[in-house]
Amino acid sequence: MKLTKVLLAGILVFALAACSGKDKEIKTDVLVIGGGGAGLVSAITVAEAGKKVILVEKMSALGGNTIISATGITASDTKYHEDAGISFTKEDHFKRTMETGKNLANPALVQILVNKSSEAIDWLTELGLKLKVRSEAEPFWLVPVEGHYGSQLIGVLINEANQYDKLDVRTKTKATELVIKDGKVIGATVEDEKGSYVIYAKSVILATGGLNNNPEMIAFYNEKYKNINTEMTTPGATGDGIVMALAANADLVDMQYFQVRPLSINGDWYHERILTTEDVSGILVNFKGERFVNETLAPKALAAEILKTSEHSAYAIFDNRVLNTPDGKKFFEKGKGFQANTIEELAVLINIDAVTLLKTINDYNQGIDPFGRTVLGKIIEAPYQAVQTLPSNHYTMGGLKVNADAQVIDKNNQPIPGLFAAGEVMGGLYGDGRVAGNNTLDDVVFGKIAGLSAVK
Ligand code: ADP
Repeated sequence: MKLTKVLLAGILVFALAACSGKDKEIKTDVLVIGGGGAGLVSAITVAEAGKKVILVEKMSALGGNTIISATGITASDTKYHEDAGISFTKEDHFKRTMETGKNLANPALVQILVNKSSEAIDWLTELGLKLKVRSEAEPFWLVPVEGHYGSQLIGVLINEANQYDKLDVRTKTKATELVIKDGKVIGATVEDEKGSYVIYAKSVILATGGLNNNPEMIAFYNEKYKNINTEMTTPGATGDGIVMALAANADLVDMQYFQVRPLSINGDWYHERILTTEDVSGILVNFKGERFVNETLAPKALAAEILKTSEHSAYAIFDNRVLNTPDGKKFFEKGKGFQANTIEELAVLINIDAVTLLKTINDYNQGIDPFGRTVLGKIIEAPYQAVQTLPSNHYTMGGLKVNADAQVIDKNNQPIPGLFAAGEVMGGLYGDGRVAGNNTLDDVVFGKIAGLSAVK
C-alpha cells in the first residue's frame, strides 16, 4: 500500500514536471540562442552539416532587428556587380568599412567579412533572394529587385530552416543563463510559457542581437546616451547575450559605440541635411524656444547634446523650402509635425513661448549664432514647420570579443570552450561607425562561421 502511494506520488510529480516544463532536460548537438538573421543562418549551417540543432527565440516570431533592415546588404565583387558592369571591389569594401568605423574595427574580422561577402550573396541567391546593385552612385548596396529587404531576407531564411527535420525552432522560449561546467559551456537554461528547462548542447551559439532596446544598459556603457529613445528597434534587443556571456567571463569590445540618430521619431530617422544645408536649413530649439547647440555637429555629438536638455528632446524648426525637399517632407509627414503661416501661430501649436521663439528665429536669420555654426540657413518662407525629435539608438557596434572562428574570447584572451557568437551580439566589426548593410552581411558570414565551428 505504502509503495503504491509512493509510486503514485512519483507519477504525479513527473506529470506535473512534464506539464510545467520544469526540470525537463533536452540534449542536442548545437543550441542557437536568438532567431534573427545570425541565429537562423547559424542554425541552418548546423543542420546542413547533418547535426541536430535547437534554435530558441524569446519573441513569438522570428526575425529580430534583421527583419526591419531597410537598406539592403553591403557586398563586394559579387556576380551582380559583374553582371551590371558596376565596380565595388573587396578593397573598396574593406576601406569603406574601416574608415566608417574610424579605423577602430578589428581589421582581421573585417577582412573575413569582406572576403566572404560574395559567397554569402551566392548562398542567399540560391535560397531565393532576388537582388540587384542599387545604383552606380551607391554600388556598395545590393537591394531586392522589389519590396522590403529585411522581410525578404528573413523569409528565405525561415523557408530554408523549415527544410530540415534536425532543426527545431522554439519561439516564445527565452534563454536565461548559460550552463557552465569546468569552464566549458554545455547548454543553457531556457524558459517558455510552461516553465524553465535546460537544453544541453555540445556547443552554444549566441545570436541575441544588440542592446538597442535596453536604455539603461546603453547608458551604462555610454552615459552620453542616457535617456536615449529606443523605438527604432525591436523589443527583443535587450543585451541578454552580453549578460549571459559575462557570467562565463567573456570579454567585450567597443561597448561605448552605438549608432544613434539625432533626428528621430515615430520609429524612423531623418537626415540631418534638414539642419545643415547652406542658406536653407532650419534649427533646433529646446522646449523654451531657444537654440542650444550647433546643429551642424556630427550626428552622434548632436544627439548627445539634445539628450542633455531637460526634456531629452527638441523641436526642429524649418520653413517651406526645407519642407519641399524629400528629407523635409518625410520628417514632417512621418514625424507628425506642426505647421503654421506665422512663427507666433507655430509657437502656440507646440506650446512654446512665442516671443522667445520669434527672437530665436530673427537672430538666426540675421546670422547671430553663439554656437559656432559655419553653415547657416534662414527660416523665412511660410508655411513654417515644427517637428519634435527624440534621438534614437539604431545599432550596437560593440559586443562579445570573438576570434576568426566566432569563438567567444574570455578576459584572459582565451576562447571559452563551447561558446560561439554571431551577428550584432559580437563586437569588432564596426568600431565607431557602421556601414549600413554590413550588418546583415555579418549575420550571414559570421552565422555560417559560428555554425561550422560549432559542429567541429
Ligand atoms: P542579429 O542581426 O544579430 O541576428 P537580431 O536582432 O536580428 O540580431 O536577432 C536577435 C534575436 O535574438 C531577436 O529575435 C531577439 O528577440 C532574440 N533574443 C534576444 N535575447 C534572447 C534570449 N535571451 N533568448 C532567446 N532569444 C533572444
